[in-house]
Amino acid sequence: MATIIDGKRISGEIRAELAEKTKEFQSKHGTVPGLAVIIVGEDPASRVYVRNKHKACAEVGFYSEVHELPADSTQEHVIALIDRLNEQENIHGILVQLPLPKHLDEQTILLRIKPEKDVDAFHPYNVGKIMIGDYNVLPCTPAGVMQLLARSGVSAAGKHCVVIGRSNIVGKPMAMLLLHDNGTVTICHSRTPDLKAQTLQADILVAAVGRAGFVTADMVKPGAVVIDVGINRNAEGKLCGDVDFESVNEVASMITPVPGGVGPMTITMLLQNTLTAAEAALNK
Ligand code: NDP
Repeated sequence: MATIIDGKRISGEIRAELAEKTKEFQSKHGTVPGLAVIIVGEDPASRVYVRNKHKACAEVGFYSEVHELPADSTQEHVIALIDRLNEQENIHGILVQLPLPKHLDEQTILLRIKPEKDVDAFHPYNVGKIMIGDYNVLPCTPAGVMQLLARSGVSAAGKHCVVIGRSNIVGKPMAMLLLHDNGTVTICHSRTPDLKAQTLQADILVAAVGRAGFVTADMVKPGAVVIDVGINRNAEGKLCGDVDFESVNEVASMITPVPGGVGPMTITMLLQNTLTAAEAALNK
């Protein structure tokens, strides 16, 4: 049986550290880090995510504001709000909850956020900084995975790391962070022939596919560390990851569960990015 990497516990540890750092920040600067979240429309899942972000900010002592815009908001209206928040001194991070309604141009909107307030690290400027290894903020989910590994005593150095998935939000930056940690990295995707031959090489296997139970025990090298980024619903409607936990648990040395693995880390890393952005703004 593998050791469970407990994302809830690790996330709690980091949030406690962030709460302490926020107190220090406040006594030094007389203000607290501030996050603005913009949500357009009524998507229930997005609303839950936004509420959780607002709550998490309060827990560590940040200021946060939520801008709920109607689903028929115009592009100009959203851009005008971002422009205002870009200049607002008590806001150090701006996040636009995705997905946006179809009539809005996601790229134009995301590009409007000043790179120094881009706490999702989606802006091409920040993506480029990550590429060259000179970054302030990191995309939240891959950064969360790196924290889970580091705080479980796992380094990518000298290891073969296989990432399944090449999205801009998870797969690609994940591979880059493992590379920065001196892993030898393979990125797999839907056009990879003989995926199993690749995954069997992995000392660290990261699944970011979006398919319930996609990674099975026969695809995992005995003793591998398995990180499951996926958030899916199985046939019974139960939350599950991309990894068939029951079987892979018998082969891996360490594994993240779903829920309670990578999931809790994502908001925590958003908080970290907001503090980092606030420190950069006030230490200018
Ligand atoms: P995307 O759909 O953008 O990317 C999925 C990737 O999986 C693509 O690169 C795709 O390849 C690859 N893929 C699909 N089918 C196969 C296959 N049969 N064999 C190999 N590769 C395949 O998803 P995201 O990256 O946004 O998210 C991935 C998962 O992580 C989802 O379940 C999502 O819900 C979850 N997630 C979890 C977060 C968290 O906080 N824990 C945060 C963000 C996402 P190709 O590029 O060729 O199409």
